[in-house]
Amino acid sequence: MSDADVGAAPSGARSRLDWLLRMPPEVERAEERDFGGERIKHLRHAIIVGLIVYNIYNLTSLYLMADIQPFTVAMRLFVLVPGSLAIFYLVPRLPPAFRELLLLQGMFVASLLPLYLLYISQSAYASYTLGELPLVLLFGNMLLVLRYRWALVFTSVTCLAALWVIYNKPGLDENLIFPLTVQVVTGLFFTLYGNWHVERQRCLTYLARYDAQNRADRAERRGAALRDLTLTDMLTGIPNRRHLDETLETWFSEREEVLLLMVDVDHFKAFNDRFGHVAGDDCLRRIASALSTFAARHDGFAARYGGEEFTLLFAVDAKTGGAFLADRLVRSVRDLAIPHPARVDGLSHVTVSVGYAGTGEGDLRNPRDLVTRADLALYEAKSAGRNRSKAG
Ligand code: GH3
Ligand code: MG
Ligand code: MG
Repeated sequence: MSDADVGAAPSGARSRLDWLLRMPPEVERAEERDFGGERIKHLRHAIIVGLIVYNIYNLTSLYLMADIQPFTVAMRLFVLVPGSLAIFYLVPRLPPAFRELLLLQGMFVASLLPLYLLYISQSAYASYTLGELPLVLLFGNMLLVLRYRWALVFTSVTCLAALWVIYNKPGLDENLIFPLTVQVVTGLFFTLYGNWHVERQRCLTYLARYDAQNRADRAERRGAALRDLTLTDMLTGIPNRRHLDETLETWFSEREEVLLLMVDVDHFKAFNDRFGHVAGDDCLRRIASALSTFAARHDGFAARYGGEEFTLLFAVDAKTGGAFLADRLVRSVRDLAIPHPARVDGLSHVTVSVGYAGTGEGDLRNPRDLVTRADLALYEAKSAGRNRSKAG
């Protein structure tokens, strides 16, 4: 993403970045999830390259600090190399915050050690080793790309330590103090500026991406919720007729066996007349919920067909499972024991009648034929006295 693109990033990406270039914690976590692996790979690569270059570069100390040669070699071999390898090992194994802090520790050793060697060396050429300081900073700030907050700490501490050495090293040519000060300070500032730029770009780019991802997720959720709404019956909350039609179509073409149950509440008009439509609605909700649970228990599907009628689908053979499921269903509604004193047939609770039919029998050309057969069976159940099931 170009700077112009980042500049155009909506939702105030910049305002969510503080002066230390820290993103909100949840964004930092998301970035780690998305790019943590890449960062680890990059760090390990850079550590190995840095280690090789650093060691080659340090060979200059054999000439520039000849008086403490064994000590410089020992420091390299027993401190820097094992330290770097330890960091290489730990980088993928630490939580991100510790990983970044560990890099800072490593960089401190890499920058403060040569300053210390310079300070203790009596060699007339020792001050030339200051030339490597910007390189070490370049490595930490621009190659490893320390997090900006740590780059700031690293650069400031190194700068102060370097200035302290320049001003306190015994025997340093006075004419070198000013130029060395300028070289060190400008060199370090340059790399810090580079780090700030790269880090800021990283954060703004990720914030823009994070926002775009969130917007896409929200739109997807809204779309899914809207689709759910078009497939849900408003009164009972279970699948509606449209959902039933779609599901039946799919099941009919994809499943070997489809058993369809048409369910109708018995004497429901009288229930409404006695208790009112609000109580009637409550009753329908309770029945819908019971049918839905019943369907789920038997890997089926339950929908409101319309009015006080419901339809259930099961992927079972009607001959072996039809009667069993239909009778169970009739019983499960009866077991709700919803009082219905307005009945004229001697019963005093809400019941349902069920007609069922399966794809296994007869000549069925389409799902409508299946519904018609179950419907006919339902009327038989009604005529036979209700509160029962009949096969189609
Ligand atoms: P049967 O045993 O023969 O099925 O008798 P019934 O009274 O249940 O059948 P009928 O078709 O005469 O009446 C159906 C009633 O269902 C009439 C209608 O008021 C009621 N009904 C349909 N949809 C709703 C609804 O959404 N809410 C309420 N409260 N009642 C409804
Ligand atoms: Mg009816
Ligand atoms: Mg009815």
